[in-house]
Amino acid sequence: MKIHLYNTLTRRKEEFKPLKGNTVRIYSCGPTVYSYAHIGNFRAYIFMDTLRRVLEYNGYQLQHVMNITDVGHLESDADDGEDKMEKAARKENKDPYEIADYYTKIFFQDMDRLHIEKPEIIAKATQHIPEMIEFVKGLVEKGYAYETSKGIYFDISKLDQYPVLSNRNLEEQIAGARVDVDTEKRNPYDFALWIKAPKNHIMKWESPWGLSYPGWHIECSAMGRKYLGDEFDIHTGGIDHIPTHHENEIAQSKGLTGKIPAKFWMHVEFLQVDGGKMSKSLGNTYTLDQLQEKGIEPLAYKLFCFTAHYRTKLNFTFETASSTQTALTRLREGYVKHLEGQEKIENTKIKEYEDKFLETINDDLNIPAAMGIVWEIVRFPQKSKQLADLLLKFDQVLGLDLVNSKDYLEKNKQIEIPKEIEELLNQRKQARANKDWALSDEIRDILKQKGYGVKDTKEGMEIQKI
Ligand code: AMP
Ligand code: ZN
Repeated sequence: MKIHLYNTLTRRKEEFKPLKGNTVRIYSCGPTVYSYAHIGNFRAYIFMDTLRRVLEYNGYQLQHVMNITDVGHLESDADDGEDKMEKAARKENKDPYEIADYYTKIFFQDMDRLHIEKPEIIAKATQHIPEMIEFVKGLVEKGYAYETSKGIYFDISKLDQYPVLSNRNLEEQIAGARVDVDTEKRNPYDFALWIKAPKNHIMKWESPWGLSYPGWHIECSAMGRKYLGDEFDIHTGGIDHIPTHHENEIAQSKGLTGKIPAKFWMHVEFLQVDGGKMSKSLGNTYTLDQLQEKGIEPLAYKLFCFTAHYRTKLNFTFETASSTQTALTRLREGYVKHLEGQEKIENTKIKEYEDKFLETINDDLNIPAAMGIVWEIVRFPQKSKQLADLLLKFDQVLGLDLVNSKDYLEKNKQIEIPKEIEELLNQRKQARANKDWALSDEIRDILKQKGYGVKDTKEGMEIQKI
């Protein structure tokens, strides 16, 4: 079946086919590892995961690269401010490499908790300095880059067109902007490829331009080219990457190779919190741990992300996320009921669901609509193992770890028992040990009134919410 994906470059949905054979080559802009990744960041990686899984579901092989930015991402996405890694290192009084290792480790732990598939190649910027230097040298040789006292800059006036990805009108922007001009730059929108390091800068390398470090955009261009070649299939990122980071990646590649590096450019919209922006100053850049503390599992957050299409804004509140946690429990229960069901479902019905699901996910990853199909199956009145198998098949795309539903339900049951109920259970246990059957029965009735059913088994008491 055909796959259609929205391409930011052409501003429309297009049919997707890999450039070469059966392998899809993807580059995803990864995290800058100077701090904990927040749930907004994870919306981007959940989208990346869904894209991978949809392509795999369609039978494609993947060669997927994600970078780890551990140097060169300045405080603004353009050339202003300090390197985020160096700033964090100073604040935490640690070595920037130590900072990078620590947050990279936590990042991948969180990715695992979300059941996000790990891209085939993880590329750390600091391990690709020679490739970046070669790229910049190439641009200088071809006349696309020039040296100033601050570094090596890309000359955008050498391109036939800039920008190509965003429809920014540079002239209007320049006219309206408060001018903060670097007089050494040839054009206001020229950007740094390579930055000469101030004396106190820790991360720096020998280069033809002295001790210096890479700009953020050149990292992705050089690593993408190394692993995927001059032209590959898909480049992903967040919408914030469109006007600067990805625009400049395209400029760099066009300068060196004459080609736009990826055929499809896909961007995920932002997650908002309480109807507004996420920001450190508002204290709403929540981590997965902070959600977990409030009883929202990482996978419930993933399910929450599935409530909106990746190209629309999504608003996070603890209230809606909590109801998604309940929905996740219902989903798991629904799966288990089917698993234990004995009824026979017509093969035509199964096929109908399969076709509808495939058609939906292949329409620019329409996961909210695909979830509609999943819920219909969960609520299907006849309970059947065939439907449980179908849900598992669909979970290849969703990555909600449905196969372990029973374990999660068991674990959550234990977690959800409030203190007061626990105390009653202990009292009942004591009563039974004392062979005080009347008290035992009385406590059982109190528990029932409070919404909990108890069953006495060989292993002890089993408690259930009723
Ligand atoms: P960073 O580590 O800051 O480079 O960001 C990592 C990824 O998270 C990028 O793809 C960003 O586009 C994305 N991102 C940052 N904030 C949000 C947000 N609020 N919603 C969705 N994606 C975001
Ligand atoms: Zn990037």
